[in-house]
Amino acid sequence: MVSITEALEMIHENVKAVHTQILPIESAIGYICAEHIHAGFDLPRFDNSAMDGYAVTLADAGGTIEPQTTVFAGDESSVRVTKGHGVKIMTGAVVPEGADAVVPVENTKESAEGILMPDSLRRGANIRKKGEDITKGERIIESGDRISAYAIARLVSQGITHLRVYRKPTVSIFATGHELKMHYESVEAHQIYNSNAPTFIARARELGCDARFTGTTADTMESIMKQIEVSLDSDLIITSGGVSVGDADFTKEAFQRLGMQTLFSKVDIKPGKPTTVGRIGKTWIVNLPGNPSAAAANFEIFARSIIARLRGVNTPYLSPITTVCARDTKVKPGKFTVLMGRFNGESFDIIEKQGPGMVGPLKEMDGFVITTPSTDFLKAGKSVRMIPIHYSEGAEQARELFT
Ligand code: AMP
Ligand code: MG
Repeated sequence: MVSITEALEMIHENVKAVHTQILPIESAIGYICAEHIHAGFDLPRFDNSAMDGYAVTLADAGGTIEPQTTVFAGDESSVRVTKGHGVKIMTGAVVPEGADAVVPVENTKESAEGILMPDSLRRGANIRKKGEDITKGERIIESGDRISAYAIARLVSQGITHLRVYRKPTVSIFATGHELKMHYESVEAHQIYNSNAPTFIARARELGCDARFTGTTADTMESIMKQIEVSLDSDLIITSGGVSVGDADFTKEAFQRLGMQTLFSKVDIKPGKPTTVGRIGKTWIVNLPGNPSAAAANFEIFARSIIARLRGVNTPYLSPITTVCARDTKVKPGKFTVLMGRFNGESFDIIEKQGPGMVGPLKEMDGFVITTPSTDFLKAGKSVRMIPIHYSEGAEQARELFT
Protein backbone atom coordinates (compact mmCIF):
# COMPACT_ATOMS: atom_id res chain seq x y z
CA MET A 1 0.00 0.00 0.00
CA VAL A 2 1.28 3.48 -0.88
CA SER A 3 0.42 6.82 0.69
CA ILE A 4 -1.53 9.42 -1.29
CA THR A 5 1.65 11.51 -1.58
CA GLU A 6 3.71 8.56 -2.81
CA ALA A 7 1.03 7.69 -5.36
CA LEU A 8 1.01 11.25 -6.70
CA GLU A 9 4.82 11.36 -6.85
CA MET A 10 4.84 8.14 -8.85
CA ILE A 11 2.35 9.66 -11.28
CA HIS A 12 4.43 12.79 -11.66
CA GLU A 13 7.61 10.81 -12.26
CA ASN A 14 6.19 8.36 -14.74
CA VAL A 15 3.45 9.97 -16.82
CA LYS A 16 4.68 12.05 -19.76
CA ALA A 17 2.82 14.42 -22.08
CA VAL A 18 1.18 13.14 -25.26
CA HIS A 19 2.35 14.26 -28.72
CA THR A 20 1.64 17.64 -30.23
CA GLN A 21 -0.29 19.07 -33.16
CA ILE A 22 -0.66 22.47 -34.82
CA LEU A 23 -3.95 24.36 -34.51
CA PRO A 24 -5.28 27.72 -35.63
CA ILE A 25 -5.35 29.83 -32.48
CA GLU A 26 -9.11 30.25 -32.40
CA SER A 27 -9.41 26.45 -32.16
CA ALA A 28 -6.68 26.18 -29.53
CA ILE A 29 -8.81 27.37 -26.62
CA GLY A 30 -8.39 25.02 -23.65
CA TYR A 31 -5.36 23.26 -25.15
CA ILE A 32 -1.91 23.40 -23.60
CA CYS A 33 0.76 25.23 -25.54
CA ALA A 34 3.75 23.06 -26.54
CA GLU A 35 6.20 25.82 -27.48
CA HIS A 36 7.51 29.10 -26.15
CA ILE A 37 6.27 32.07 -28.16
CA HIS A 38 8.23 35.33 -28.28
CA ALA A 39 7.01 38.76 -29.30
CA GLY A 40 8.07 39.64 -32.83
CA PHE A 41 7.63 43.37 -32.26
CA ASP A 42 6.92 45.99 -29.62
CA LEU A 43 3.38 46.72 -28.48
CA PRO A 44 2.32 49.48 -28.81
CA ARG A 45 4.08 49.44 -32.16
CA PHE A 46 4.54 53.25 -31.94
CA ASP A 47 4.08 56.02 -29.38
CA ASN A 48 0.37 56.77 -29.46
CA SER A 49 -2.14 58.98 -27.76
CA ALA A 50 -4.01 57.69 -24.70
CA MET A 51 -6.63 60.48 -24.96
CA ASP A 52 -8.54 62.60 -27.43
CA GLY A 53 -6.74 65.95 -27.16
CA TYR A 54 -3.81 67.97 -28.44
CA ALA A 55 -0.22 66.87 -29.04
CA VAL A 56 2.01 69.78 -28.04
CA THR A 57 5.51 70.73 -26.85
CA LEU A 58 6.36 71.45 -23.19
CA ALA A 59 7.03 75.06 -24.24
CA ASP A 60 3.28 75.42 -24.96
CA ALA A 61 2.43 75.33 -21.22
CA GLY A 62 0.21 78.30 -20.35
CA GLY A 63 0.10 79.48 -23.99
CA THR A 64 -2.20 78.94 -26.95
CA ILE A 65 -1.72 76.78 -30.02
CA GLU A 66 -3.09 76.87 -33.54
CA PRO A 67 -3.63 73.15 -34.41
CA GLN A 68 -2.19 72.42 -37.86
CA THR A 69 -4.35 69.36 -38.49
CA THR A 70 -6.17 66.44 -36.84
CA VAL A 71 -4.48 63.02 -36.60
CA PHE A 72 -6.80 60.02 -36.32
CA ALA A 73 -6.01 56.45 -35.20
CA GLY A 74 -4.76 54.61 -38.27
CA ASP A 75 -3.49 57.76 -40.02
CA GLU A 76 0.00 57.75 -41.48
CA SER A 77 1.06 61.31 -40.75
CA SER A 78 4.37 63.07 -41.34
CA VAL A 79 3.37 66.27 -39.54
CA ARG A 80 5.91 67.77 -37.08
CA VAL A 81 4.86 69.52 -33.88
CA THR A 82 6.59 72.78 -32.91
CA LYS A 83 5.80 75.42 -30.26
CA GLY A 84 2.44 77.00 -31.04
CA HIS A 85 1.78 74.49 -33.79
CA GLY A 86 0.42 71.35 -32.12
CA VAL A 87 -2.05 68.94 -33.66
CA LYS A 88 -5.46 67.72 -32.61
CA ILE A 89 -5.04 64.01 -31.92
CA MET A 90 -7.43 61.09 -31.30
CA THR A 91 -6.89 58.10 -29.00
CA GLY A 92 -4.64 55.49 -30.63
CA ALA A 93 -3.21 57.88 -33.25
CA VAL A 94 0.56 58.04 -33.82
CA VAL A 95 2.07 60.84 -31.72
CA PRO A 96 3.82 63.15 -34.23
CA GLU A 97 7.50 63.95 -34.02
CA GLY A 98 8.31 66.92 -31.82
CA ALA A 99 5.32 66.38 -29.48
CA ASP A 100 6.23 66.05 -25.77
CA ALA A 101 2.77 65.48 -24.30
CA VAL A 102 -0.89 65.04 -25.11
CA VAL A 103 -3.33 67.38 -23.35
CA PRO A 104 -6.88 65.99 -23.06
CA VAL A 105 -9.55 68.14 -24.73
CA GLU A 106 -11.27 68.67 -21.38
CA ASN A 107 -8.15 70.35 -19.96
CA THR A 108 -8.05 72.97 -22.73
CA LYS A 109 -10.09 76.07 -23.54
CA GLU A 110 -10.94 77.64 -26.85
CA SER A 111 -10.07 81.34 -26.99
CA ALA A 112 -9.84 84.01 -29.64
CA GLU A 113 -6.05 83.45 -29.88
CA GLY A 114 -6.33 79.67 -30.22
CA ILE A 115 -6.53 76.66 -27.91
CA LEU A 116 -5.35 77.51 -24.40
CA MET A 117 -3.07 74.94 -22.73
CA PRO A 118 -2.77 74.31 -18.96
CA ASP A 119 -0.02 76.09 -17.02
CA SER A 120 2.05 72.99 -16.45
CA LEU A 121 2.76 70.11 -18.79
CA ARG A 122 4.55 66.86 -18.00
CA ARG A 123 6.81 65.18 -20.56
CA GLY A 124 5.15 61.99 -21.83
CA ALA A 125 1.74 62.78 -20.32
CA ASN A 126 -1.04 60.76 -21.98
CA ILE A 127 1.37 59.12 -24.40
CA ARG A 128 1.49 55.32 -24.51
CA LYS A 129 5.13 54.51 -25.21
CA LYS A 130 6.26 52.06 -27.88
CA GLY A 131 6.90 48.67 -26.24
CA GLU A 132 5.48 49.56 -22.81
CA ASP A 133 2.87 46.77 -23.05
CA ILE A 134 4.85 43.97 -24.72
CA THR A 135 8.54 44.29 -25.60
CA LYS A 136 9.98 42.72 -28.75
CA GLY A 137 11.64 39.41 -27.86
CA GLU A 138 9.69 38.97 -24.62
CA ARG A 139 8.24 35.48 -23.97
CA ILE A 140 4.49 35.96 -24.30
CA ILE A 141 3.34 32.33 -23.91
CA GLU A 142 5.24 29.45 -22.36
CA SER A 143 5.15 25.79 -23.19
CA GLY A 144 2.72 24.35 -20.63
CA ASP A 145 0.46 27.41 -20.52
CA ARG A 146 -3.22 26.78 -21.02
CA ILE A 147 -4.59 28.71 -23.97
CA SER A 148 -7.30 30.92 -22.54
CA ALA A 149 -9.25 33.66 -24.30
CA TYR A 150 -6.84 36.22 -22.88
CA ALA A 151 -3.81 34.20 -23.97
CA ILE A 152 -5.33 34.46 -27.44
CA ALA A 153 -5.44 38.25 -26.99
CA ARG A 154 -1.64 38.24 -26.62
CA LEU A 155 -1.08 35.91 -29.54
CA VAL A 156 -3.27 37.79 -32.01
CA SER A 157 -1.75 41.10 -30.96
CA GLN A 158 1.47 39.67 -32.42
CA GLY A 159 -0.20 38.40 -35.59
CA ILE A 160 0.24 34.75 -34.59
CA THR A 161 -2.26 32.54 -36.39
CA HIS A 162 -1.19 28.97 -35.58
CA LEU A 163 0.15 27.29 -32.51
CA ARG A 164 1.78 23.99 -31.54
CA VAL A 165 -0.27 22.42 -28.73
CA TYR A 166 -0.41 19.06 -27.01
CA ARG A 167 -3.20 17.09 -28.61
CA LYS A 168 -6.10 16.07 -26.40
CA PRO A 169 -5.38 12.85 -24.52
CA THR A 170 -7.74 10.09 -25.62
CA VAL A 171 -9.51 8.44 -22.72
CA SER A 172 -11.55 5.23 -22.86
CA ILE A 173 -13.94 4.67 -20.03
CA PHE A 174 -15.82 1.54 -19.11
CA ALA A 175 -17.59 0.14 -16.08
CA THR A 176 -17.77 -3.40 -14.80
CA GLY A 177 -20.73 -4.88 -13.00
CA HIS A 178 -23.39 -7.47 -13.67
CA GLU A 179 -25.95 -5.19 -12.01
CA LEU A 180 -25.34 -2.22 -14.31
CA LYS A 181 -27.57 -0.90 -17.08
CA MET A 182 -26.86 2.03 -19.32
CA HIS A 183 -29.07 5.08 -18.99
CA TYR A 184 -30.64 4.40 -22.40
CA GLU A 185 -31.79 0.93 -21.31
CA SER A 186 -34.65 -0.09 -19.07
CA VAL A 187 -33.70 -1.11 -15.59
CA GLU A 188 -35.17 -3.94 -13.50
CA ALA A 189 -35.86 -3.68 -9.77
CA HIS A 190 -32.62 -5.54 -8.91
CA GLN A 191 -30.43 -3.52 -11.28
CA ILE A 192 -28.94 -0.01 -11.21
CA TYR A 193 -27.85 2.51 -13.77
CA ASN A 194 -24.20 2.81 -14.60
CA SER A 195 -23.75 6.35 -13.39
CA ASN A 196 -19.96 6.28 -13.23
CA ALA A 197 -19.11 5.91 -16.91
CA PRO A 198 -21.17 8.88 -18.23
CA THR A 199 -20.00 10.99 -15.27
CA PHE A 200 -16.33 10.33 -15.91
CA ILE A 201 -16.71 10.81 -19.66
CA ALA A 202 -18.18 14.25 -18.96
CA ARG A 203 -15.51 15.07 -16.39
CA ALA A 204 -12.66 13.91 -18.61
CA ARG A 205 -14.04 16.18 -21.35
CA GLU A 206 -14.24 19.07 -18.88
CA LEU A 207 -10.58 18.42 -18.12
CA GLY A 208 -9.62 18.66 -21.80
CA CYS A 209 -9.67 15.03 -22.93
CA ASP A 210 -11.18 13.32 -25.92
CA ALA A 211 -13.21 10.80 -23.92
CA ARG A 212 -15.25 7.89 -25.22
CA PHE A 213 -17.37 5.18 -23.72
CA THR A 214 -16.32 1.68 -24.62
CA GLY A 215 -18.95 -0.32 -22.74
CA THR A 216 -20.21 -2.01 -19.65
CA THR A 217 -18.78 -5.43 -18.91
CA ALA A 218 -20.14 -8.40 -17.05
CA ASP A 219 -18.21 -9.61 -14.02
CA THR A 220 -16.23 -12.16 -15.98
CA MET A 221 -12.58 -12.28 -16.94
CA GLU A 222 -13.38 -12.75 -20.65
CA SER A 223 -15.80 -9.84 -20.78
CA ILE A 224 -13.37 -7.44 -19.06
CA MET A 225 -10.38 -8.58 -21.15
CA LYS A 226 -12.38 -8.05 -24.34
CA GLN A 227 -13.25 -4.51 -23.22
CA ILE A 228 -9.63 -3.74 -22.38
CA GLU A 229 -8.54 -4.85 -25.83
CA VAL A 230 -10.90 -2.43 -27.58
CA SER A 231 -9.74 0.40 -25.28
CA LEU A 232 -6.00 -0.08 -25.59
CA ASP A 233 -5.52 2.42 -28.42
CA SER A 234 -6.20 5.25 -25.93
CA ASP A 235 -3.71 7.24 -23.87
CA LEU A 236 -5.67 6.42 -20.73
CA ILE A 237 -8.24 3.82 -19.70
CA ILE A 238 -10.41 4.55 -16.68
CA THR A 239 -12.53 1.76 -15.27
CA SER A 240 -14.86 1.55 -12.33
CA GLY A 241 -15.83 -1.46 -10.27
CA GLY A 242 -14.54 -4.92 -9.56
CA VAL A 243 -11.34 -3.86 -7.80
CA SER A 244 -11.92 -5.11 -4.27
CA VAL A 245 -11.88 -8.59 -2.82
CA GLY A 246 -15.39 -9.77 -3.73
CA ASP A 247 -15.99 -13.04 -5.55
CA ALA A 248 -16.95 -11.09 -8.69
CA ASP A 249 -14.01 -8.66 -8.70
CA PHE A 250 -11.87 -9.43 -11.74
CA THR A 251 -10.80 -6.03 -13.02
CA LYS A 252 -7.21 -5.95 -11.79
CA GLU A 253 -6.55 -9.54 -12.77
CA ALA A 254 -7.91 -8.98 -16.26
CA PHE A 255 -5.51 -6.05 -16.77
CA GLN A 256 -2.64 -8.07 -15.33
CA ARG A 257 -3.33 -10.93 -17.70
CA LEU A 258 -2.96 -8.44 -20.55
CA GLY A 259 0.42 -7.33 -19.25
CA MET A 260 -0.33 -4.37 -17.01
CA GLN A 261 2.73 -3.08 -15.17
CA THR A 262 1.38 -1.85 -11.86
CA LEU A 263 2.50 1.50 -10.45
CA PHE A 264 0.46 1.01 -7.29
CA SER A 265 -2.48 -1.22 -6.44
CA LYS A 266 -3.63 0.06 -3.04
CA VAL A 267 -3.64 3.53 -1.58
CA ASP A 268 -3.93 4.58 2.06
CA ILE A 269 -7.15 6.52 1.45
CA LYS A 270 -10.76 6.27 2.52
CA PRO A 271 -12.79 5.71 0.50
CA GLY A 272 -11.03 4.12 -2.46
CA LYS A 273 -8.25 1.98 -0.99
CA PRO A 274 -8.21 -0.48 -3.95
CA THR A 275 -7.57 2.27 -6.53
CA THR A 276 -4.93 1.00 -8.95
CA VAL A 277 -2.72 2.74 -11.49
CA GLY A 278 -0.58 1.01 -14.10
CA ARG A 279 0.18 0.84 -17.78
CA ILE A 280 0.05 -1.52 -20.72
CA GLY A 281 2.52 -0.30 -23.32
CA LYS A 282 1.81 3.40 -23.85
CA THR A 283 -1.66 3.27 -22.30
CA TRP A 284 -2.10 4.42 -18.73
CA ILE A 285 -4.74 2.68 -16.64
CA VAL A 286 -6.72 3.80 -13.62
CA ASN A 287 -8.97 1.24 -11.93
CA LEU A 288 -11.41 3.02 -9.67
CA PRO A 289 -13.81 1.39 -7.22
CA GLY A 290 -17.46 1.06 -8.24
CA ASN A 291 -18.98 3.05 -5.40
CA PRO A 292 -19.82 6.38 -7.07
CA SER A 293 -18.52 8.80 -4.42
CA ALA A 294 -15.39 6.72 -3.81
CA ALA A 295 -14.79 6.57 -7.55
CA ALA A 296 -15.26 10.33 -7.94
CA ALA A 297 -12.89 11.19 -5.07
CA ASN A 298 -10.17 8.95 -6.49
CA PHE A 299 -10.81 10.20 -10.00
CA GLU A 300 -10.26 13.75 -8.77
CA ILE A 301 -7.03 12.90 -6.97
CA PHE A 302 -5.36 10.33 -9.23
CA ALA A 303 -7.03 10.29 -12.67
CA ARG A 304 -7.04 14.08 -12.80
CA SER A 305 -3.33 14.20 -11.96
CA ILE A 306 -2.59 11.71 -14.76
CA ILE A 307 -4.71 13.73 -17.18
CA ALA A 308 -2.83 16.92 -16.26
CA ARG A 309 0.50 15.21 -16.99
CA LEU A 310 -0.73 13.76 -20.29
CA ARG A 311 -2.04 17.16 -21.39
CA GLY A 312 1.33 18.79 -20.86
CA VAL A 313 0.13 21.16 -18.13
CA ASN A 314 3.14 22.80 -16.45
CA THR A 315 1.30 23.01 -13.12
CA PRO A 316 0.11 19.41 -12.74
CA TYR A 317 -0.01 19.29 -8.93
CA LEU A 318 -3.38 19.52 -7.19
CA SER A 319 -3.65 23.02 -5.84
CA PRO A 320 -5.65 23.41 -2.65
CA ILE A 321 -7.36 26.59 -1.51
CA THR A 322 -6.75 27.43 2.13
CA THR A 323 -10.06 28.30 3.75
CA VAL A 324 -11.86 27.62 7.03
CA CYS A 325 -14.29 24.95 8.17
CA ALA A 326 -17.83 26.37 8.13
CA ARG A 327 -19.05 24.56 11.25
CA ASP A 328 -18.08 22.02 13.90
CA THR A 329 -17.77 18.65 12.19
CA LYS A 330 -17.09 15.24 13.71
CA VAL A 331 -14.71 13.06 11.69
CA LYS A 332 -14.09 9.34 12.03
CA PRO A 333 -10.35 9.10 12.77
CA GLY A 334 -7.85 6.41 11.77
CA LYS A 335 -7.55 7.01 8.01
CA PHE A 336 -6.71 9.63 5.42
CA THR A 337 -10.32 10.48 4.71
CA VAL A 338 -11.86 12.36 1.81
CA LEU A 339 -14.76 14.60 2.84
CA MET A 340 -16.79 16.40 0.19
CA GLY A 341 -18.19 19.83 0.81
CA ARG A 342 -19.52 23.12 -0.45
CA PHE A 343 -17.27 26.13 -0.80
CA ASN A 344 -18.78 29.60 -1.01
CA GLY A 345 -15.58 31.58 -1.31
CA GLU A 346 -15.40 32.13 2.44
CA SER A 347 -15.67 28.75 4.13
CA PHE A 348 -15.90 25.04 3.44
CA ASP A 349 -19.06 23.29 4.58
CA ILE A 350 -18.67 19.52 4.81
CA ILE A 351 -21.74 17.74 3.44
CA GLU A 352 -23.44 16.00 6.33
CA LYS A 353 -24.99 13.11 4.46
CA GLN A 354 -22.19 11.53 2.47
CA GLY A 355 -20.98 7.99 1.92
CA PRO A 356 -18.84 6.11 -0.62
CA GLY A 357 -21.85 4.53 -2.31
CA MET A 358 -23.82 7.74 -2.79
CA VAL A 359 -24.53 9.63 -6.02
CA GLY A 360 -26.53 12.55 -4.60
CA PRO A 361 -23.77 14.54 -2.85
CA LEU A 362 -21.55 14.64 -5.96
CA LYS A 363 -23.47 17.46 -7.57
CA GLU A 364 -23.29 19.51 -4.35
CA MET A 365 -19.55 19.13 -4.02
CA ASP A 366 -17.40 22.15 -4.86
CA GLY A 367 -14.34 20.35 -3.60
CA PHE A 368 -13.06 18.10 -0.85
CA VAL A 369 -10.68 18.00 2.07
CA ILE A 370 -8.48 15.07 3.07
CA THR A 371 -8.23 14.67 6.84
CA THR A 372 -5.30 12.89 8.48
CA PRO A 373 -5.69 9.72 10.63
CA SER A 374 -5.40 11.69 13.89
CA THR A 375 -8.25 14.08 13.03
CA ASP A 376 -11.50 13.37 14.87
CA PHE A 377 -12.99 16.84 14.88
CA LEU A 378 -12.89 19.97 12.73
CA LYS A 379 -13.87 23.05 14.65
CA ALA A 380 -15.77 25.88 12.96
CA GLY A 381 -13.17 28.42 11.79
CA LYS A 382 -10.33 25.90 11.68
CA SER A 383 -8.05 26.38 8.69
CA VAL A 384 -8.51 23.62 6.08
CA ARG A 385 -7.03 22.90 2.65
CA MET A 386 -9.81 22.42 0.16
CA ILE A 387 -9.06 20.78 -3.18
CA PRO A 388 -11.43 22.51 -5.58
CA ILE A 389 -13.39 20.72 -8.29
CA HIS A 390 -15.39 23.62 -9.53
CA TYR A 391 -15.90 26.94 -7.89
CA SER A 392 -18.99 28.84 -8.89
CA GLU A 393 -18.47 32.39 -10.07
CA GLY A 394 -21.89 33.36 -8.75
CA ALA A 395 -23.33 33.81 -5.26
CA GLU A 396 -26.91 33.55 -4.01
CA GLN A 397 -26.76 36.97 -2.45
CA ALA A 398 -24.99 40.15 -3.41
CA ARG A 399 -21.56 40.22 -1.77
CA GLU A 400 -19.14 42.94 -0.80
CA LEU A 401 -17.12 43.40 -3.98
CA PHE A 402 -14.55 46.00 -3.13
CA THR A 403 -11.02 45.67 -1.88
P1 AMP B 1 -17.73 -2.83 -6.92
O1 AMP B 1 -16.58 -1.90 -6.75
O2 AMP B 1 -17.81 -3.41 -8.29
O3 AMP B 1 -17.70 -3.90 -5.86
O4 AMP B 1 -19.05 -1.99 -6.71
C1 AMP B 1 -19.28 -1.33 -5.47
C2 AMP B 1 -20.65 -0.70 -5.47
O5 AMP B 1 -20.72 0.31 -6.47
C3 AMP B 1 -21.78 -1.65 -5.77
O6 AMP B 1 -22.86 -1.29 -4.97
C4 AMP B 1 -22.09 -1.39 -7.23
O7 AMP B 1 -23.40 -1.70 -7.57
C5 AMP B 1 -21.79 0.08 -7.36
N1 AMP B 1 -21.34 0.40 -8.71
C6 AMP B 1 -20.38 -0.25 -9.38
N2 AMP B 1 -20.18 0.28 -10.59
C7 AMP B 1 -21.04 1.31 -10.70
C8 AMP B 1 -21.33 2.25 -11.73
N3 AMP B 1 -20.67 2.23 -12.88
N4 AMP B 1 -22.29 3.16 -11.51
C9 AMP B 1 -22.94 3.18 -10.32
N5 AMP B 1 -22.71 2.33 -9.32
C10 AMP B 1 -21.79 1.39 -9.49
MG1 MG C 1 -18.88 -4.87 -9.16
